Parts: sequence; C-alpha cells; structure tokens
Amino acid sequence: MTVEEFILAVKNAGITLTKHQIQQFEDYFDMLIATNEHVNLTAITEKNDVYLKHFYDSLTVSFYEQDLQTAEKTLIDIGTGAGFPSLPLKIVFPQLKITMVDSLQKRINFLQEVVTTLDLSGVEIIHGRAEDIGQNLRYREAFDYATARAVARTSVLAEYTLPFVKKGGKFIVMKGAAAQQELADGKQALATLGGVLHDEFEFSLPNGDVRYIQIVNKNKKTPKQYPRQAGTPSKKPIG
Ligand code: SAM
Repeated sequence: MTVEEFILAVKNAGITLTKHQIQQFEDYFDMLIATNEHVNLTAITEKNDVYLKHFYDSLTVSFYEQDLQTAEKTLIDIGTGAGFPSLPLKIVFPQLKITMVDSLQKRINFLQEVVTTLDLSGVEIIHGRAEDIGQNLRYREAFDYATARAVARTSVLAEYTLPFVKKGGKFIVMKGAAAQQELADGKQALATLGGVLHDEFEFSLPNGDVRYIQIVNKNKKTPKQYPRQAGTPSKKPIG
C-alpha cells in the first residue's frame, strides 16, 4: 500500500487525514526504519508493507469501534512494541489518551523519541510487564479500552488486558485467521476475568489478509488474584 493508497483507504473509512497527520506518519516511518538498523523493532521494513501491515492495520480498530474516533477515551496498549496499534490511533485521533506498555526498554526508548518528535501529548509510556503493572492500583481498572496486537493467544491476553479495563469498558481483540479458535479456547479466561464477547467483525486488509476484531465488554470486576505473577499467564492460561 503506497502512501497515496493509505490516504485513500482511510478516507474510504470516513477519515480524512490532514497534511500534518500525513507528515507525522512519514516521520514515524523514517524513525522506525532508522532505529531498526540497530534496535530490533520490526521485521516489516518495506515502506508499502509498513503502511499496510502496521499503520493501516492499527487504524482498523477505529473503523469498528467508532467511539475511538471522537470521544476522549483512555486506551492502554499492552506489548505495544514499536507502537502498534496505539500510535497510529493517537496520530489520527489526538483526543485519545493512550498508555503504551512494553517489557523491552529499547522499544520504550524508541517510543519516547517518536512521541517527542511528533509532539504528541496525552501519551504515557510504561516499561514493564503487564502482569506487574496490572496489580498497580494507579492503572488497575482505570481504562475505557485495552488492546494488544500480536502479543499472546486470547486466553493469555485476557489476563494481560482485562485487569486494566474499567467495569463498563472494553477489551478489543485484534487477530488473524485463528481468532475464533483462540476465542473459544479463551472463553473461560474471559469469564473469570469479568469479560464477555459483545461483537465480532471479520474483514480483509486490502491485500486479502483476513482480520478479526472482537469486542469484549467488561461487565464484572477482575478478581484481585489476577493478573498472576509474571510468566504464569502464559505458562498456565486460565481454563
Ligand atoms: N504490538 C506490536 C505490534 O503489533 O507490532 C508488537 C508486537 S511484538 C510481536 C510483542 C511485544 O509484546 C514485544 O515488544 C514484547 O516485548 C511485548 N510483550 C510480550 N509480553 C509482554 C508482557 N507480559 N508485558 C509487556 N509487554 C510484553
């Protein structure tokens, strides 16, 4: 997807990017490629692929959860890596308040540099593991939304994300072709942690890759013992 195709595809979803936002994406791309020379940020480096598989793919969340486009919501992105999906969302919807979490310091340093260069405000960047931060009362059940892309299977991801979501908030699951199987395997985990599937959208990226977005509503508080100690959710997923 060229930059022009990106702008058009986003426009077809009802979102008109400003010159400033288009430039922010260009700057973000340049920094991603330059830093990736010495810090492992992404395996996707070809420009058309970055615009499709990182920038556009990140924005699809807002096509299906439209409150993200206009409301002053808080969103936490667990295992954000080089900033996906939260940084593209922040560029396009600057009213969002985003919190990015990653356990790798080098990726956190990169994110700090991008946020400064792009002059973004309303962004918090936290170095640490979801399992530890999820027990911190400052962050626990404090967000309207939690999301994560390419971090863990749904049964594990639920324990990384749902403790951060307010009662009445949502966990947005972003997945490929295995989405429905992962959701079935994660059913017990979602229920234990206070989540229930509300909606599911299946669509394709412009290159034909299948994507699912599943919206999980948080309707009950997460029991205090979750998230468990760092490493336990992935070793012994709930259910
Ligand atoms: N979300 C980004 C994306 O879609 O490009 C990055 C995906 S990368 C494959 C997974 C990221 O999750 C890594 O940067 C890793 O450091 C982070 N991560 C994995 N487990 C984590 C945990 N328990 N807490 C915080 N970060 C975690």
